[in-house]
Amino acid sequence: MSGTSRICGVIGDPIEHSMSPVMHNAAFEKIGLNYLYVPFRVKKEELGKAIAGMRALNIRGLNVTIPHKVAVIPFLDELDPLAQRIGAVNTIVNDDGALTGYNTDATGFLQALLERGIEPREKNAVVLGAGGASRAISLILAERGSNLIILNRTWDKATEYASWISQICHREAKALKLNRENLARALSNADILVNATSIGMSPNSNETPVSPDLFKPPLTVFDIVYNPIKTRLLREAEAAGAETISGVDMLVWQGALAFELWTGAKAPVKLMREEAIKGLKEYEN
Ligand code: NAP
Repeated sequence: MSGTSRICGVIGDPIEHSMSPVMHNAAFEKIGLNYLYVPFRVKKEELGKAIAGMRALNIRGLNVTIPHKVAVIPFLDELDPLAQRIGAVNTIVNDDGALTGYNTDATGFLQALLERGIEPREKNAVVLGAGGASRAISLILAERGSNLIILNRTWDKATEYASWISQICHREAKALKLNRENLARALSNADILVNATSIGMSPNSNETPVSPDLFKPPLTVFDIVYNPIKTRLLREAEAAGAETISGVDMLVWQGALAFELWTGAKAPVKLMREEAIKGLKEYEN
């Protein structure tokens, strides 16, 4: 560290298990950038002060995680149009005191698909869940031109998301309640299935949202849960002959795209993935 060092970090609560510090610090070192990435536990009621602190201390960039992704918006000066449409921010860039909010969860998800050669345009995409992550993923899929069905345990929320997306994208998104019958219907001609619920996340890693007899390859199954790295859903999808993508890929790409916004340098994605996997394995053991 020196007088010219720049600081980035992540705000959330809890923050102890974040993989972002290991990913970003390894990336800064690899590229030879004089940056440091720090985790900050910020309670809900301290969010405004934390953002004022970002300005006062000239912190270059922050990632924003649960529970602040929506609540942080009023404290920022500007929103990137995609973050504005989604209504949530996971990355802030500080340009001499002007704070701009971005959503690299959405672009990171899309990049993880494209990296594997999967173009969602005109594909039938089934998204499970209508929480914060689903909002970003569903919108970017619909904007890219996917035919979207959202299934959620709480049907009202799925309906609300689907009509919001249909309005923004001028493209009809459907909503169904998450149950076996509707899953079978939706998956009968699906190209892409995304699990954006927390089903299967540690410590409930023996759970899965989809019974394996419902997979109809060719199908790409993307589970955004990254803890465990290989969820039961991914194991069963792979055994059924589906192409699988782990939530680690989304985690890495949302970080890589934030890194590029802060530094202007190309992110060392391979290294960031290795560091994230190393960190997650330590956490699993
Ligand atoms: P959230 O806002 O709390 O939403 C949770 C979603 O899961 C809701 O749709 C909820 O349905 C559903 N759900 C939870 N338990 C369920 C159950 N037992 N049965 C059926 N549905 C259930 O959470 P989030 O922020 O969207 O995150 C969801 C998951 O994505 C988490 O595991 C998170 O770690 C992961 N994630 C990964 C990345 C990445 O970079 N890979 C990024 C963000 C999030 P209801 O609406 O009915 O409650």
